[in-house]
Amino acid sequence: MRKVLVSACLMGRRVRYDGRAKPVGDDTVTRWREEGRLVVHCPEIAGGLSVPRPPAEIEPDADAADVLAGRARILTPEGADVTDHFVSGARSALATAQTHGVVLALLKESSPSCGLHEVYDGTFQGRKVPGEGVTAHLLREHGVVVFNENEVAQAADRLRGLEQD
Ligand code: SF4
Repeated sequence: MRKVLVSACLMGRRVRYDGRAKPVGDDTVTRWREEGRLVVHCPEIAGGLSVPRPPAEIEPDADAADVLAGRARILTPEGADVTDHFVSGARSALATAQTHGVVLALLKESSPSCGLHEVYDGTFQGRKVPGEGVTAHLLREHGVVVFNENEVAQAADRLRGLEQD
């Protein structure tokens, strides 16, 4: 049985920067949990950050690849550099995925760690730009297929296909 890595906040864990969760509440995810398929992980907690914590964004005009290559930082609104926590968390997520043989992940959109299609633009003005978080990028670079919380049906289709291979 293929395992699925899932963002901890989507499973109701209060690990977001603001101390809240974002439970996905989807029957397919509930079934995956009952099947023992889910590997629940929060990269930012694994990277040593606490709850609550300041929000953080990738610097303007940089992307996740830049951060992982040491060319850009992840900062709080006060300018504190939290890059090392985010990179450590991404590596932890990858190691966890590899330990469990994960080939597919369901991640929380827009996070500087877990976002897949868009992230905040680094100005803390609430504006989003196309891009991905550092964990999503690292997982994808290592062959894990990633979906967000609005793509559960597509994730389930892909999982079925992977299990038939
Ligand atoms: Fe959720 Fe990922 Fe942020 Fe953790 S790092 S709170 S799992 S979006």
